[in-house]
Order: sequence, then structure tokens, then C-alpha cells
Amino acid sequence: MTMSSDSPNQILLILDLDETLVHARSTPLPDRPADFELFDYHIYLRPHLAAFLREVNRHFKLAVWSSASDDYVTEITRRIFPPDASLEFVWGRSRCTYCFNHAAFEETGYTDYHSHYDYVKVLKKLKRHGYRLERVLIVDDTPHKAKRNFGNAIYPTEYTGQLHDNELPQLLAYLLTLKDAANVRQLEKRGWRDHS
Ligand SMILES: [Mg+2]
Repeated sequence: MTMSSDSPNQILLILDLDETLVHARSTPLPDRPADFELFDYHIYLRPHLAAFLREVNRHFKLAVWSSASDDYVTEITRRIFPPDASLEFVWGRSRCTYCFNHAAFEETGYTDYHSHYDYVKVLKKLKRHGYRLERVLIVDDTPHKAKRNFGNAIYPTEYTGQLHDNELPQLLAYLLTLKDAANVRQLEKRGWRDHS
């Protein structure tokens, strides 16, 4: 019998896609060929992505939650995750909540009210699927999108297609320090780079 890597006790790790794991753009970057093309987008993988996904797949239950269109999310996930990764769920925009972004409204001096609506990820939804929020982490480059889940969120830098980027190895090292935490919400995660 082989050791199964997935344990019912593993923390659920929810990953964002755009600017966290990949960068998608309508025009190609001048200094680098795209890793693949999809729906008229040039897709650039964040450096060290394959190793990152392989390792988190061993230590966490995995899921994807992105505010991009459902089709895009399904297809990007299929292309970048290791074939043996069994994802708890793959959610796109239809699972996000459309709501007003007060911070952005304030930043722009309270102008153009209608442009400040955005799709956010409300983790409370997971409870009815049987997940305990004490054992859920969400990784998202956009703090606003996970703002309702302050105690669960880790914010990597935004990835915009640079050839060299070491965020994923650093993030992996930090995540491994959390993998056995009984309650991730009790841990301060804002200075996460100092703990990895
Ligand atoms: Mg993002």
C-alpha cells in the first residue's frame, strides 16, 4: 500500500490565479515568450510554479478560487496543476460576491461611484460545504478580494510577468510553517516573509 498524501486533517489552501500564480495579458511581453495561449490571452507562469504546486499538493487540501470567468479558471487550472492534484473545488466569478469597494472609492476622492464594484471571495460560503474556517488559508495578491477573510489571508506580491521572481519558494516555506496549525486565524500573517 502506498502512503496517501491527502489526509482529511489537512488545512484547505485556496489559491488565486491571476497575478498570484500566472500573469495573463492580451499583448505578448517583449522579453519572454508566453508559456501558452488561452482565449486570446498570453499566459505567463510565475517562476517556480510547478515545484510550488507539487509541494503544496503534498501538504494541503487544495482549491482554486478566482474572480476571472468560470471557463478561464477551469482551463487555467487544468493546464497548470499537476495531474495527480485532486482539487476540492475550482471556483470562478460565479462563486464570487459582487460588492462595493469602499476603500477604492475613498482613494479616488469619492468619485465615479459605479466603477468601484468588484468581485470578492467570501469565505463564509465554505462553512456550508463543511469546511472550518480555522483550517482554511487563502492566497491572493489583491487584499481587497479577500478582505472579508482577514484572518485567513496571505498576500503575495502581484506577479506581472517578470522573468525572475522568488515569491513562490518563499510562500511555500511560510505555508509549511502553518500546515499543522490548529487555528490559522489566530496567527498574524501580515509579516509572513519574515517567518518563512
Ligand atoms: Mg489575483
